[in-house]
Amino acid sequence: MGSLARPVGPGSGLGSRPPPLAPLRLLVLLLLVAPGARAAGYKTCPEVKPGMLNVHLVAHTHDDVGWLKTVDQYFYGIHNDIQHAGVQYILDSVLEALRAEPSRRFVYVEMAFFSRWWHQQSNATQEAVRALVHQGRLEFANGGWVMNDEAATHYGAIIDQMTLGLRFLRETFGDEGRPLVAWHIDPFGHSREQASLFAQMGFDGFFFGRLDYQDKVTRKEHREMEQIWRASASLKPPAADLFTGALPNMYNPPESLCWDSGCSDSPIVEDPRSPEYNAKDVVTYFLKLSDIQRQSYRTNHTVMTMGSDFQYENANMWFKNLDKLIRLVNAQQASGSLVNVLYSTPACYLWELYKSNLTWSVKLDDFFPYADGPHKFWTGYFTSRAALKRYERHSYNFLQVCNQLEALVGPAASQGPYGSGASASLNEAMAVLQHHDAVSGTSKQHVANDYARQLAEGWGPCEVLLSNALARLSGSKKDFTFCRELNISLCPFTQGAHSFEVTVYNPLGRKVERMVRLPVSKEAFLVKGPDGAVVPNNFLSFVSEVVPNPSSEQLELLFPATVPALGFSVYSVSRVSPRRPTSLRRRPRAQEAESLELTIQNEYLQARFDPDTGLLMEVNNLEEGLQLAVRQAFFWYNASMGDGLSSQASGAYIFRPYRQEPMILSRWVQPRLVKTSLVQEVHQNFSAWCSQVIRLYRGRRQLEFEWTVGPIPVGDNWGKEVVSRFDAALDTKGLFYTDSNGREILERRRDYRPTWKLNQTEPVAGNYYPVNSRIYIKDSEMQLTVLTDRSQGGSSIRDGSIELMVHRRLLKDDGRGVGEPLQEDLPGRWVRGRHLLLLNKLKTAAAAHRLQAQEEVLAPQLVLASGDGTPYRPSVAPSKQFSGLRWELPPSVHLLSLTHWGPGMVLLRLEHQFAVGEDSGRNLSAPVTVDLTDLFSTLTITQLEETTLAANQLRARASRLYWTPGTGPAAAPLQPPRLNPAAITLMPMEIRTFLAKVQWKGGS
Ligand SMILES: [Zn+2]
Repeated sequence: MGSLARPVGPGSGLGSRPPPLAPLRLLVLLLLVAPGARAAGYKTCPEVKPGMLNVHLVAHTHDDVGWLKTVDQYFYGIHNDIQHAGVQYILDSVLEALRAEPSRRFVYVEMAFFSRWWHQQSNATQEAVRALVHQGRLEFANGGWVMNDEAATHYGAIIDQMTLGLRFLRETFGDEGRPLVAWHIDPFGHSREQASLFAQMGFDGFFFGRLDYQDKVTRKEHREMEQIWRASASLKPPAADLFTGALPNMYNPPESLCWDSGCSDSPIVEDPRSPEYNAKDVVTYFLKLSDIQRQSYRTNHTVMTMGSDFQYENANMWFKNLDKLIRLVNAQQASGSLVNVLYSTPACYLWELYKSNLTWSVKLDDFFPYADGPHKFWTGYFTSRAALKRYERHSYNFLQVCNQLEALVGPAASQGPYGSGASASLNEAMAVLQHHDAVSGTSKQHVANDYARQLAEGWGPCEVLLSNALARLSGSKKDFTFCRELNISLCPFTQGAHSFEVTVYNPLGRKVERMVRLPVSKEAFLVKGPDGAVVPNNFLSFVSEVVPNPSSEQLELLFPATVPALGFSVYSVSRVSPRRPTSLRRRPRAQEAESLELTIQNEYLQARFDPDTGLLMEVNNLEEGLQLAVRQAFFWYNASMGDGLSSQASGAYIFRPYRQEPMILSRWVQPRLVKTSLVQEVHQNFSAWCSQVIRLYRGRRQLEFEWTVGPIPVGDNWGKEVVSRFDAALDTKGLFYTDSNGREILERRRDYRPTWKLNQTEPVAGNYYPVNSRIYIKDSEMQLTVLTDRSQGGSSIRDGSIELMVHRRLLKDDGRGVGEPLQEDLPGRWVRGRHLLLLNKLKTAAAAHRLQAQEEVLAPQLVLASGDGTPYRPSVAPSKQFSGLRWELPPSVHLLSLTHWGPGMVLLRLEHQFAVGEDSGRNLSAPVTVDLTDLFSTLTITQLEETTLAANQLRARASRLYWTPGTGPAAAPLQPPRLNPAAITLMPMEIRTFLAKVQWKGGS
């Protein structure tokens, strides 16, 4: 028997939490969803004809939040010479068409556009839209700010962007506006974590458009286009089970049935006297098409997406022809046709599938990589626009800092001595960046520039907010300064100051130690910690490889900082005379280290270099007694321009190397060894456009590889795709592991797909996977992990090898619409980034990479000031150290979100960051319980409610459709535990979301 629908009846969906189901109550509920009844949210679905094939026409538009045009150009319809598209007209036109004929329905998706349009409408228009939503004729699907990319996105940013869009819908339309169906019709491959997040957000089902062409053939044959996706290996089913369907024709209308102004198909002519009469042919064609389509699916329902990119600007064209099509096809029923066609929506189609009461097969892996032909692997965009990808990740870090301080400090952060500050504009910019042509790197150049502009503009109000908040928390108003270019060692403030203060803010729920590096112009400084004690410091001189001062020697100051959980430490730095005996001047010993044993080492790790080549040769984990031969070097694939096998070129989306064997950039580097008390570095120059520093900080358990690549020369007419490759003496048996959106780990096997027999046609590109935060390989004893600082493509092309594509520059467009080769403007041609290498025993590996990866995503934020502040309040003494938590969170718990939600309201997400069975060394995979009462030092939680993941439904009142998996009887959904703020238990990989009413301590 089928599983249970959401309870119906008075107050359904808004009633109090149902008690555990007794058999009698189960029976009553089954009766309630007996034929004719509708679960909440599906009440407005159209009637179908049970004995017929029901063809659900879904009228929709796919509105990219930036691609060939910027977000604003698309919204207003500017630059129609680039692409004819104007979203404001689409919404105007659809509204009119829906009001003209009551059977018509439409689905809308992207809240970045819809909310903007909504705010420009009159009250009367808004009322008309509300009525359409109430009638179920305007349905929202997905409902995120954007339809996010799934390969290059971090789960935290996905949750944030979905929360933003779904919140708009909730506040505008109440529960009637809540999308029931997730709708990712265009993203280029689908991650398992995305499905898990959708399930946790409360979606009943998920439809997408793109899947590998071989996979699609197999699925159609086995009628497995629709399945249950079990999207987590840790969450107990059905928590992360999501009904998932691949749409029959991506997201386009069937061939010859496109009736938009941009299409050239004939409208339906039903006047038999007209020489253009075609109605009969159209009906015959449609009936045949419906029959073919049903053969790949399992129910007597099938769906057709009637729309495409930016369509319905003249909605009348589409709807007028669809009206005719429906009338003409259904008229055939009188003469025995068993096809019934109707206006429907994704949710109403899903509802009919649900009612069909079938048992569905279960998918456990993901839909990467995506290929639409033998030499057409969409694995290039995993790396495309590497600088923008880093800027996006860095902005995520800064946004969380901004969110936290806004929540910790309350109104005094928004309005203070530095003016008005807010997180909202960076939050919106970050949401836009998650779009599947934004962080994916697949937009035109001018659009990529506009994405960067939006981020940069979002940073400003957050900097004001940080200043207000830090002044309040430290009790001192200072001239706070932000250096946004510390990643390339530029900070005019520290380079010009005689003395200054560094506030180091730590956004993690546990104490961290971090090496602070700041560019300075003179040597010899005295650094003091928050308690006034002298902190050791070093100077490093280096030659800048990047703008604006190439080849000039620069200095960096280096000192270790210790920062409490969710708090800050203030360090004071002042220049001292080098001749003074208290001087801590220490000139690093830089050596042209030809004849020396090239080794860098700290208390935990040792890295040895080949004296002949200057390349890394061996890594030793001294603490765990592990020794591994590891060679690392840079290589490049020469990008295909198309060949006899296929005209496909490597481009913004597609990765297609001309030769499968990459060229080594340099077999030999002249290493320069730098050793100080705080860091040991080997500087390597691979070429005029590729250099690297391999470093070991004192006290760190990771070997850091900071590479600088670009501008990639293309004077030889070869586009180049540059990889950093680690070759280790590990027997890995074709296996490697990559993360899914920075969270759960998936096992990858070279030249293999778990659900179909792969015909591998691209030995390199066809083995690339998205690496959002980490990739690793292992044997029976040890694991070699590389953490990344942004999303990249990665693989293990040979046993023992890990490669990550760090940058690419291409001379040809790859024919997927963007129409530009991926050349990149300055400054995107230069890319600097970091890989962290970890070598561990299997049982310590998860603890090492999980904790370090969070420290990379939420790194400490540096805020500078000249130091001579004035008191924030005369009565309060300034303080140099602060923690927003009264106790540290346990290591397995991550504070995912702490965000101001509204007056007196805070959004809080806690996450168990270990998978089931992942950590055996410290038992970090065990369930963990946290006490939230009095956890925060600046605020008191007066009321706490738990919600679903995107905070648009109370968890106790949320219910989903549960589907019967072929693996066995459907497990009953877990009842949410009774909420006790003093004992919040997190199971492995569980995220729990709360809305809290709070009072800030000490007034504002
Ligand atoms: Zn798209």
